Amino acid sequence: MSDLRNSGLRVTDLRVEYTGGQLALGRVNLTIPEHGIYTIIGPSGCGKSTLLRAIAGLIKTYQGEILFNEKSVHSQETLIGLVPQSYGLLPWKTVQSNILMAMRISHPDRTLRQAQEQQIQYWLESMGISDLVDRYPMSLSGGQQQRVAIARAFAILPTMMLLDEPFSALDAFTRETIQQIFLDNWLTHPTTTLFVTHDVEEAILLGEKIIVMPSNQEESLEVVDNPIFHMKHEDKRNSDEFFQQTKRIRKVMHKKW
Ligand code: ADP
Repeated sequence: MSDLRNSGLRVTDLRVEYTGGQLALGRVNLTIPEHGIYTIIGPSGCGKSTLLRAIAGLIKTYQGEILFNEKSVHSQETLIGLVPQSYGLLPWKTVQSNILMAMRISHPDRTLRQAQEQQIQYWLESMGISDLVDRYPMSLSGGQQQRVAIARAFAILPTMMLLDEPFSALDAFTRETIQQIFLDNWLTHPTTTLFVTHDVEEAILLGEKIIVMPSNQEESLEVVDNPIFHMKHEDKRNSDEFFQQTKRIRKVMHKKW
């Protein structure tokens, strides 16, 4: 399948230093085919957020190249939906206004408010939170805010979606529910996706491939195939293959961390 897809995201020799010479990312080389979904795991401080921020254009100074379908990822043609760790919702705007504003900024040419409101309704329903449309972020639980942030990322119909540990604050049960909802939405709208998590099981449940980042920024990352991805979501967790894959990934982690 991957042979038929466009090159998608291509990161070549990416190196990021923060001011003062602090090395945040060594040489990162990575390709995600268009419409692929890859998960990233790595120890704290290895540069996962920095990688997402560089791809999203929030870090302007880096060495190397970041392309999407062979053009700079920061060209106008690439629209990125970012779900940051802190959700990034504006507290003084309602759920609907938060999403509407993101849609207006990303598609200034489309001004039909009614159509946009219908779209917002669709995405909120898909995330199971349509009743929250008029609420303000501060009145929502962490899990509800995460769902809003994800609905907003989908609603702008991005070329690429970047998620930074979006389910980290959730209890195990809610997390399982949202993982399934997220994956169902992605299957209906398979935007090229990079999903950071610190949870091995989540990486296996959601990633077509799993990227294991090294603790030493000078070392290369490892990309692991994940046949589990193609199983029915509800069968994954209790399968022998899942258990074997967990062992395989832990082995790579021990080598790299
Ligand atoms: P991760 O997301 O994997 O936990 P980060 O990308 O947040 O890692 O950080 C990578 C490295 O860069 C760490 O050593 C961290 O201390 C450093 N770092 C992150 N943000 C900054 C910053 N704004 N200024 C200086 N150093 C930073």
